[in-house]
Amino acid sequence: MKLYLFLIILLISSHIPLSAADGVVEEEKSTDFNSIVILIVDGLGASYIYPEYQPKALDRNILQKPQLKNFTAISSKSIRFLDISTTSLSGNSGHNVLITGTCKADEKMVEYPGTTIYDVLHDYGYVAIAIMEKGDSAEIIAEQDLILHDTTNSINDVNLSLKARQCSEDEALYEVWKSLGKHANDLPKLVENEREGSIERYNAYNEIVFKAAEDTILEMKKSDVPYILTLNIGAIDSAGHYRGIGGYLQTIEYFDMMILPLYQLCRDNGITLVITSDHGMAFPDSENRGGVLSGKYSEASEVKRIPLIIYSPTSEPEIIDFPADQQDIAPTILSLLDIPDNPHFCEGKRIHIKDYATLKIITENRCNICVLREGKIVDSSEPGVIHYFQKLDIDTDYTFVVFDEEGKLIDEKIYSLSGDRIIHLSTEKSHSPISDKGWFDYFGYALIAIINLTGITLIFWLLKQ
Ligand SMILES: [Zn+2]
Repeated sequence: MKLYLFLIILLISSHIPLSAADGVVEEEKSTDFNSIVILIVDGLGASYIYPEYQPKALDRNILQKPQLKNFTAISSKSIRFLDISTTSLSGNSGHNVLITGTCKADEKMVEYPGTTIYDVLHDYGYVAIAIMEKGDSAEIIAEQDLILHDTTNSINDVNLSLKARQCSEDEALYEVWKSLGKHANDLPKLVENEREGSIERYNAYNEIVFKAAEDTILEMKKSDVPYILTLNIGAIDSAGHYRGIGGYLQTIEYFDMMILPLYQLCRDNGITLVITSDHGMAFPDSENRGGVLSGKYSEASEVKRIPLIIYSPTSEPEIIDFPADQQDIAPTILSLLDIPDNPHFCEGKRIHIKDYATLKIITENRCNICVLREGKIVDSSEPGVIHYFQKLDIDTDYTFVVFDEEGKLIDEKIYSLSGDRIIHLSTEKSHSPISDKGWFDYFGYALIAIINLTGITLIFWLLKQ
């Protein structure tokens, strides 16, 4: 049975190198990757928006919670993580941890090549677009192909700046650039039209990001290029710091109103939506301003526990109740996008929330690989050195049959995956003549030897005569 199968594979595979032998494009198998929107709601603590928790002030008095409608509905369609903790609070660290998967990540690490989800996604052909009000360090800006950000981080003096890293030939990206350029001029007016110090002004500040994000998604619909859109809304954090629990809750309720169109756009276009935050917020009592960093604030669960809600077009809604950390978010997101690579130095673990796995096989030489399950071919890769196999069932035996470019069998492996994996396969050509030459060559050599021997014998015989 096995031999029979092999023959079939050999027959099929012998055609593959012919059609692609001089393939112009050497690179990854063309795979479909989903786009992703990451919304960082600056300063939003899970204690205030999750039904499981009751927020308390530092004086131990119970705090009110916002009235949420859309957020609760979106959560029920998503994967909601109940217990995600921040690991580091100083400076911009929440953002750095979110994008590197490393608990002590600083700006230097973000700057280093290969250390962020943006670096990984760029390798997979993604473009990175961002619209940020806070967390826009020079290093995070440098990771983006296109970014609209508030250079002042201030509701009182909004100054939107648009930066493009490179000229892109992608027409849709050019349209996004044009549309964000217009927004850079127009959208600050939303804020300026509201009275300074009013809660409406805070809400208008967040509205800037939602408006620009929705237009970006609509423009990018015209492109086949997958993208990561990072959004940071800053007004909830500011309201917590300057307006106390009352202002904090009002901006959360307005956020709940604005989130619905963004969610619908993602859902209708097969885009993964991640809602999370860099840190939460604690209040000394029900009157005074909130804080994050100093003393008792930084230890409060109202600060440390952050929300994580992921709407994924490929995963079922679920509640994850075991504890996890902020550094687990980056690798988990990559796993959801079927990308087996992690950023360099990533310490976070992939929380496996899909029922299939992705395998990346790297071969030393150009090969193609056939994948069999229970004797049937289920997938195969184009000739190359990087081979992707998506949507493999968990804990299931798959046979990977490796052929060199001439279609000769060089290896056969059985793998059963418990999650995404990267395997380096040694495929160096064997120097033993048996595998280098076919039987036909040996028959030829033997024939030549026989002819030669016969000839020599004949000469000797003639000489002897
Ligand atoms: Zn923050």
